[in-house]
Amino acid sequence: MKFQPKASHFIDGEYVEDTAGAPIDVVYPATGEVIARLHSATPAIVDKALAAAKDAQRAWEAMTGTERGRVLRRAADIMRDRNHELSVIETHDTGKPIQETTVADATSGADALEYFGGLAPSLTGEHIPLAGGDFAYTIREALGVCVGIGAWNYPTQIACWKGAPALACGNTMVFKPSETTPLSALKVAEILVEAGAPRGVYNVVQGYGDVGAALVTDPRVAKVSLTGSVPTGRKVYAAAAGGMKHVTMELGGKSPMIVFDDADVENAVSGAILGNFYSSGQVCSNGTRVFVQEGIKEAFLTRLAERLAKARIGDPMDPEVSFGPVVSQGQMEIVKGYIAKAIAEGARLVFGGRQLDRAGFYLEPTVFADVTDDMTIAREEIFGPVMSVLDFASEEEVMARANATEFGLAAGVFTRDLSRAHRVVRGFEAGTCYINTYNLAPVEAPFGGSKMSGIGRENSKLAINHYSELKTVYVSMNDVEAPY
Ligand code: NAD
Repeated sequence: MKFQPKASHFIDGEYVEDTAGAPIDVVYPATGEVIARLHSATPAIVDKALAAAKDAQRAWEAMTGTERGRVLRRAADIMRDRNHELSVIETHDTGKPIQETTVADATSGADALEYFGGLAPSLTGEHIPLAGGDFAYTIREALGVCVGIGAWNYPTQIACWKGAPALACGNTMVFKPSETTPLSALKVAEILVEAGAPRGVYNVVQGYGDVGAALVTDPRVAKVSLTGSVPTGRKVYAAAAGGMKHVTMELGGKSPMIVFDDADVENAVSGAILGNFYSSGQVCSNGTRVFVQEGIKEAFLTRLAERLAKARIGDPMDPEVSFGPVVSQGQMEIVKGYIAKAIAEGARLVFGGRQLDRAGFYLEPTVFADVTDDMTIAREEIFGPVMSVLDFASEEEVMARANATEFGLAAGVFTRDLSRAHRVVRGFEAGTCYINTYNLAPVEAPFGGSKMSGIGRENSKLAINHYSELKTVYVSMNDVEAPY
């Protein structure tokens, strides 16, 4: 098989197999063909990976930040050099067009490695002057062994967004990719070793949810970072709480995008396209509830339909193709279920809505208008190419409706009115907000959700706080005064 890796897992610097684990078939979403067969980790594999990570941690932390950072930056360079090869793997793993994977996956993984590699030498504590010449200082220490658990939409990026800050701080990692897209994290592990990471610093084990659960509860693990759905997040957070472990939760969303009458229509349509159909709509921060003010509604829908008609749907390996299949048969069925429900509940289908008559898991980009807040497609995360357009009249009304959700991942506003734009984002109950754009996630800026969409932030300097802790040292310069 063309994409068959040397073995399923990467532990202690090398590929490791244990065929006793349940099989994992890797399916190319564009054809339905099996392109690799891996095995889920057995308890012995999980143990081996955690033992390797534990053994490697102290020596890795004892290296200087400059040395650790150099490894990460070298890995970033190797990833960029191999961008094409890595993008081809990512396209086969996920079905995302090569046009996208070439610019958004290994490249954003490399950005994270470079950014946190650059930060590593300057991660320090601080000096705190106290009364009478006493002082305290803080030491920034690694947490220990961190577990990363990934979703299937951005497998390379997620492996790096978790691995880079963890390793920069002196932690080691055991990463479990989604069982749907297991290939690229193995490449990240290989590249880190090639860049000079000592054995055991970054390990990859494959598996279903039970493997993730076994990792989370193991006493050797100090921190868990999950990218996944809210129901999984609830379980993982609860399991981590038993061991008082640190967590980062990057979960789902049903984010609002508000388009006011005075918005630039072309930009708003571009934002809505990016925020609903990039990666066939399988992006956590997507603005899937598009609130359009009454005066601009017809112009918006007309341009949206004209622009969507230009989407090139087809073979994701064709560089001209801009819209590929969804990740799996199962995901396609879920999305089709939502489309049927939307029609049954009275939403007006204005574009798409069908499965393509070809092999693979292809759905058309789909737009519903006249969606109301109570409809299922306006309330639940679909994670597929389905946009809901909702009408609104006033700012006050739309803000209340935009926030009336348990999710709080992202939110966006399109308007030419500067003060309204800032007022609106201040009012959003969401972790990541956009003004006159949508869905950018550069490594320099914090990314993450509030409410049920998550805990903690990835990227930026803030991520350091989620992968390290401070030890406080009190130093007396005076005699010790005791009462007796
Ligand atoms: P999922 O929750 O089904 O699975 C996520 C990961 O958790 C997988 O690796 C899975 O094997 C593992 N898992 C499942 N049960 C587990 C358990 N009990 N203990 C430990 N691990 C377990 O999510 P998915 O379908 O792979 O991904 C889609 C979801 O991820 C969507 O909700 C999407 O919004 C979200 N997501 C969020 C972000 C973000 O940054 N906020 C990014 C991408 C995707």
